[in-house]
Amino acid sequence: MRHALCLTLACIALVAGPAVPAAAQGTSAGYTQPYQRKALDVYRTIVGMRTAAGQGKVPAMAAYLADQFRQGGFPAGDVHVLPLTLPDGEATAGLVVRYRGDGSSGKRPILLLAHMDVVDARREDWTRDPFTLVEEGGYFFGRGSADDKFGVASLTATFLRLKAEGFVPTRDLVIAFSGDEETAMLSARSLVTTHRALTDAEFALNDDGGGGMLDEATGKPVAYFIQAAEKTYATFELTLTNPGGHSSTPRADNAIYALAGALTRLEAYRFPVQVNDTTRGFLRAMARLKTGPVGEAMGRLADNPADAAAADVLWRDPEVVGITRTTCVATMLRAGHAENALPQSATATVNCRIFPGVAPSDVKATIERVTDTKGLVVTQIGEAFPSPASPLRDDVTAAVTAAVQARYPGVPVIPYMAAYATDGREVRSAGIPTFGVMGLFMKDSDQFAHGLNERVPVEQFFGALEHWKTMLSHLAGRTRP
Ligand SMILES: [Zn+2]
Repeated sequence: MRHALCLTLACIALVAGPAVPAAAQGTSAGYTQPYQRKALDVYRTIVGMRTAAGQGKVPAMAAYLADQFRQGGFPAGDVHVLPLTLPDGEATAGLVVRYRGDGSSGKRPILLLAHMDVVDARREDWTRDPFTLVEEGGYFFGRGSADDKFGVASLTATFLRLKAEGFVPTRDLVIAFSGDEETAMLSARSLVTTHRALTDAEFALNDDGGGGMLDEATGKPVAYFIQAAEKTYATFELTLTNPGGHSSTPRADNAIYALAGALTRLEAYRFPVQVNDTTRGFLRAMARLKTGPVGEAMGRLADNPADAAAADVLWRDPEVVGITRTTCVATMLRAGHAENALPQSATATVNCRIFPGVAPSDVKATIERVTDTKGLVVTQIGEAFPSPASPLRDDVTAAVTAAVQARYPGVPVIPYMAAYATDGREVRSAGIPTFGVMGLFMKDSDQFAHGLNERVPVEQFFGALEHWKTMLSHLAGRTRP
């Protein structure tokens, strides 16, 4: 997860007003049901494991969780710890747990995703120990408290709870926890390729994306977002070289001036407006929530992607432009080697967020064309991993809507496309449509995933348990709550 709720857009201020910092309400002592105590126990234990890259702790976490599932009544044959050695030699693991259904729906399984690894955190940088779950002021603090041990604990506790309640799903439910989402995502890839026999599914629900937004001022829920697509991340270097020379004898051609010209042309270029199911639904819903010219333009663009005036308005809004098209922006620059020498080379780094369905090679060709600079060499840095948008499904939308409305009646459910990547990228690329649907509502100002003092409201942790129970009952239950 990268800024789970604070989508690319996200943090669109929906309601004007001063941000009044207020402690979230509730303490965990008020949640006394056995499934709630168990969920908290699992959450506390796994936050205590430093499953960051280089620490080698993911296999121990997978083993601990496997144990919980077996103790909770899942047959050992349906609990699979799948070790994986990463290219740097570190041992990680995936965990797959099958909750067998009676097959009465005739439907294929649903895959449930979360990741066990976290971005590392240093004790000395944090106010509290990042690897101890600390409850304070209505929040749970700790590395992974949101991203994504929240997701692992939610799904684990929900399986244990449903099993204890005697729930028999009408189709198989399959948990797949990965071990290196924050780095290479190789374990997610292996879970849906090498181990496909264990993980094949009609679609996947990702507990590391999507989620709800709370109003900054009032703390009231504003909207819930289903993550149904991810933009592709690709970085390019634009390099010009030149024979150079002494700065007392300037030449007609100069690598710095020529690169500056190329970047100016790139800055002026706008990739074509694009719309898919998800972004159309997003624009339409946001048009209803957001007042003013931007909201109005979102509505017009949803109805007519060729509306140039609307596209113009959104182009100028940094929170929204990424929803409407591929974007490329210069992020770094280096050139020259001495103050009294003509530059022998000049290089700009350009980072692109590519609309699903567009090939990174086409973006590179576009950069070459629009910069229109003789001798400019455009090179892609690192790999790009495109993934298709997942077409929205009525059954998933209905289940998520039921779960959201059970907690917060009247709150709209809106599809969105993220500008960051999760394991969903790998799962979608392997042909399994994936929807980010975590049960966490947050204020933008509480977003600290990957950062210092990561936290979630206590009431959200317990609310997410109801979120998942409702969703799974809708999608795989005989009766609906
Ligand atoms: Zn994550």
